[in-house]
Amino acid sequence: MDKIPFLRPELIKNEHIVSYFEKIHETRIYSNYGPLNGLFEERVIAEMFDGTGAAVTVHNATIGLMLAISQCKRSQGIYAVMPSFTFAATPLAAEWCGLQPYFLDIDPKTWQMNEEQLEQAVKLLGDQIAVVVPYATFGSAFDLSVYNHLQQQGIPVVIDAASSFGSTDPGEVSQFGKGFEGAVVFSFHATKPFGVGEGGLVYSADRDLIQRIRQAGNFGFSTGRESVLQGLNSKISEFTAAIALATLDRYHAVKANRKGIYDLYLHELRQAGLFERGWTMQSMQGAVVFQFMPILSPESHSNREVIEHLAANSIEARTYFSPACHEQKQFQRYPQFPLPVTEHVARHIVSLPLWKEMDETIVRRIVTTLGSLGD
Ligand SMILES: *Cc1c(COP(=O)(O)O)cnc(C)c1O
Repeated sequence: MDKIPFLRPELIKNEHIVSYFEKIHETRIYSNYGPLNGLFEERVIAEMFDGTGAAVTVHNATIGLMLAISQCKRSQGIYAVMPSFTFAATPLAAEWCGLQPYFLDIDPKTWQMNEEQLEQAVKLLGDQIAVVVPYATFGSAFDLSVYNHLQQQGIPVVIDAASSFGSTDPGEVSQFGKGFEGAVVFSFHATKPFGVGEGGLVYSADRDLIQRIRQAGNFGFSTGRESVLQGLNSKISEFTAAIALATLDRYHAVKANRKGIYDLYLHELRQAGLFERGWTMQSMQGAVVFQFMPILSPESHSNREVIEHLAANSIEARTYFSPACHEQKQFQRYPQFPLPVTEHVARHIVSLPLWKEMDETIVRRIVTTLGSLGD
């Protein structure tokens, strides 16, 4: 039986990048927010954010989170309030900024940070909160009003929107995050829907914030090349900017392809009656550009059993994000609210394959294999 891999990332083809690469050889500018990088940032704001706000590229989303947190955080604060159900990069970025992650649970339907616990945390922790870092789970959008309100109260918000580039807001009108006064951080890692290899972007409606992040990302240099901020080097090369521009030219096709495969899954899962047998899915908001296909196994089967059963049938799957952050050695010592939903989801989350060439036959084989697990 042919093996079905979990991911088969495919970056933009050479023929679509060549004309951009030629420009690099003409200008002989290879980095330092060069002309292609500038063009990419401009196009992102114009084409994805309808001309609202500003953006700066970063060489990955982890660095983007670090820079955004360090430029937003309240100096007297000690905690970065975040969901435990996220990638390790979120709490790691907080640690690099000298903060302690403070873990909250997720909502059982949307798998987004639990807003009631967030309200309690704000009351309980007050000024000890340096920053709040929600995660837009698996590219799904959420209503920003709670977070706009925090920003207005002077509590900074950095959204980990790592897999949300191209995903819309809940009303499916604009790019998720458009107009937000806090920071919104996207990843362009090869495994994300908008993949350039290694890369990312920080967006905000607050232009000064983006300007500070840009400066911090270039050693904290002032115009006189004096380091005036706690900086580092987060710049992408012009070659990466070329790949990003070529990827942007053709991103609509990626979105349509991924949506098509997601719909095939929904159809097959319904046909096979798996929802009646206790399999459940995230209730998503907005039009999402899917990175993979997340699903929860029924009470009777842990995700470990599911992964082994799939592997025995030559199907590769993963368990993002299991263990949850608070269950990982590096983060166990940090304070947390009760996390029953996170722990349940971490025991049952299965990430199924999703890649360009997947057709009905492949999707059906995966779903049939899930069904053959029994009840
Ligand atoms: C992928 C991911 C990151 C890290 O992105 P990089 O660009 O690889 O640094 C951070 N947070 C979440 C939730 C992610 O999925």
